[in-house]
Amino acid sequence: MLQLDGVTVRFDDRTALDAVRCEVADHEIVCVLGPSGSGKSTLLRAVAGLQEIDAGRVLLSGRDQHGVPPHKREVGLMFQDHQLFPQRDVAGNVAFGLRMRGADRAARAARVAEFLDLVGLPGAQRRPIASLSGGEQQRVALARALAPSPRLLMLDEPLGQLDRSLREHLVVELRGLFRRLGTTVLAVTHDQGEAFALADRVLVMQDGRVAQAGSPLEVWQQPASEFVARFLGFENVVGATVGDEVADTPWGKVPVPGGSPRGEHRLLVRPGGVRLTTVEDGLPCTVTGRTFRGGPASAVSVMLQPENAPALEASCALPAAPRTGARVGVAFDATDVVVLPAGSCPVDPPGADGR
Ligand code: ADP
Ligand code: MG
Repeated sequence: MLQLDGVTVRFDDRTALDAVRCEVADHEIVCVLGPSGSGKSTLLRAVAGLQEIDAGRVLLSGRDQHGVPPHKREVGLMFQDHQLFPQRDVAGNVAFGLRMRGADRAARAARVAEFLDLVGLPGAQRRPIASLSGGEQQRVALARALAPSPRLLMLDEPLGQLDRSLREHLVVELRGLFRRLGTTVLAVTHDQGEAFALADRVLVMQDGRVAQAGSPLEVWQQPASEFVARFLGFENVVGATVGDEVADTPWGKVPVPGGSPRGEHRLLVRPGGVRLTTVEDGLPCTVTGRTFRGGPASAVSVMLQPENAPALEASCALPAAPRTGARVGVAFDATDVVVLPAGSCPVDPPGADGR
């Protein structure tokens, strides 16, 4: 459906997109994830035709979009700040794209009613925009973007301005809605939780390049680089000498999954793989803090400081979480250990990991 073939965008001396290649299949939901400034918005703008590209091609349904103006591309774009028309009522906003396409009044009214139902705002046609909550405005903006049936819907930080609980709720609704409608979606977010909840596939951007593409599970299980691992919130990354089934690390011997590449590598231990035992049975550590993460598993993130090695984050259930100041031992489970592929460069300052 959408294909980016070596798309490059430069602003003066800055390369915002650097030979980006990616594809979005029909009915697929793809989330572009990355820190601020990594080129996410530029990517959407290039696809929409709002940003000229310096090299490469954007293809929609196999057709090169070079020279095709934005309104002829049949893509819907929704920005973070919704940009609803404050002087029009809800129906006037939702009907906007339909009017542009020359739909008659009765057809417009039927379509507006249909999409207000879909986004959970039945009968809201005559309400003024100013009377709506943030979440309701979000739904109206979504109905407006969806009503003309764009072949590709692009969302730029669509839930960015909403509070967390509303976002978590809406993201699940959105996924269901896109599934029912069969909408093809390219969405941008800097929030990995949001991306993982919404997407069939995620693209992690780093400095205008695609650092990794894969299903949320693949990216979570096997981050392609230290950058991706850290962006996903994993902090337990150190240098290691990987041998057969075990690696030498500043934390001592750490078991590694079978088939891991040997030699000098960066090594990630997901917090779930840091198992708490007695001081006698593992790497001795002091508990320096705990953070209740909540969720169905009542997970607690436990910060641990070994004597002469970098800090470690462990994840455990609330009843098992030790108190701050406690002395514990740490053992490692190979299932949550990832030897990061060579060429993934450290992003922390040299020496910060104690090596
Ligand atoms: P993101 O959406 O991931 O935060 P952007 O795509 O907005 O990133 O920006 C990528 C890079 O391009 C940034 O360094 C940004 O400053 C730069 N950039 C974006 N738009 C422009 C512009 N119109 N003029 C100059 N630089 C820009
Ligand atoms: Mg942006």
